[in-house]
Amino acid sequence: MQAVDATHDPELRSWVESAQAPGTDFPIQNLPFGRVRRGAQPWRIGVAIGDQVLDLRLAAERGSWNDTQRALLRPLAAGDLNAFMALGAAAWRALRAALSHALADRAAQPLLAPCLLPQAQLDYDVPCAIGDYTDFYVGIHHATAVGKLFRPDAPLLPNYKWVPIGYHGRASTILPSARPFARPRGQIKHAGAEAPVLQPSARLDYELEIGIVIGVGNPPGQSIALARAEEHVFGLALFNDWSARDVQAWEYQPLGPFLAKNFASTLSPWIVTLDALAPFRRAFSRPPGDPPPLPYLQGADNSARGAFDVQLEVWLQSAAMRDAGLPPHCVSRSNFADAAYWTVAQLVAHHTVGGCALRPGDLFGSGTLSGPAPEQAGSLLELAQGGRQPITLPSGERRSFVADGDTVTLRGFCQRPGAVRIGFGACSATVLPAAAD
Ligand code: CA
Repeated sequence: MQAVDATHDPELRSWVESAQAPGTDFPIQNLPFGRVRRGAQPWRIGVAIGDQVLDLRLAAERGSWNDTQRALLRPLAAGDLNAFMALGAAAWRALRAALSHALADRAAQPLLAPCLLPQAQLDYDVPCAIGDYTDFYVGIHHATAVGKLFRPDAPLLPNYKWVPIGYHGRASTILPSARPFARPRGQIKHAGAEAPVLQPSARLDYELEIGIVIGVGNPPGQSIALARAEEHVFGLALFNDWSARDVQAWEYQPLGPFLAKNFASTLSPWIVTLDALAPFRRAFSRPPGDPPPLPYLQGADNSARGAFDVQLEVWLQSAAMRDAGLPPHCVSRSNFADAAYWTVAQLVAHHTVGGCALRPGDLFGSGTLSGPAPEQAGSLLELAQGGRQPITLPSGERRSFVADGDTVTLRGFCQRPGAVRIGFGACSATVLPAAAD
């Protein structure tokens, strides 16, 4: 597993002064990877530092690197994060150490300062090419609350505590943060109606999730053991798995989500590496009385520090709030470690146990990460109790589901005494009216 090392030293400072700004998501202890572009220039792989991005193409050309570091930078300079991720955990760690040193070392400043791009002036793509996408369902409080709405008698199905539940989604409609999308149409069967109709979803919802980015894959037929699983995971991001609840209610049986989930999912610009998250690991356990997982999903490291202590927030700003100059409103807060019934390592081990191959750039969604309390819900479906108790925004507007013009923004960060706070940036999108027929 990832160790806390010199790159996490709380005393470490960067010559990029904004990296020391109070509350910044991107101090030198973080160094997340993204794909950025200024104006009409080509897309570049960059590392966020303070309010800047270190352009790794320019940095590879201009910086003072040894041969090993130069080789590590080559795929990144070519704009291919997938190829870099495929190099493996030792390579990730070596480059992290080199970048940390270069961004701390005043002697590197004259060479690398011209390689900085101001974050506020950039466009952002999804950070890597995503081959396959799987959405899990690790949020046990979400599974229970939603289960109650769909099946009051049996909210949590009997397999939940044995199998990490998931489905294979589509990677083709995973959108970068800040990309708006149109409200989807779909088949909806209204209560008491004889037949469904095709119409825009009236129950559009967000889902607060963590995205898990696979760095190193496995060949078909070869499973990944739990103890090695994290060596295959490059990092985590924020992920909004937009959902059309009215479409979902009609289509989901017997094979699970389909068009209710495949019209848009928003991924944050930055992948925070598992190495950066090393100081923010927590013990992982099940509530007393729950069955232990099967042996292939059990391990000492997984129990000792399998969980990630990531604090999560959902912010909503309606069009009326924007017009009135009202800031986004925080509608809920939760925590990855408190919400998840399965660890990242368990998801990797389970996904591959039957021989399924993963590839660099594959993405897992965690599932909606609702905390145990009702106000910690990671979806509006839960917050507004299926429409029975709409929430009220600072503008006086009420919401049971997402309205046209609403901007939903996910945020995440890690902090604890003795470590420097690191953040995930923002995962944001605005919903546009449904396209005309
Ligand atoms: Ca989901």
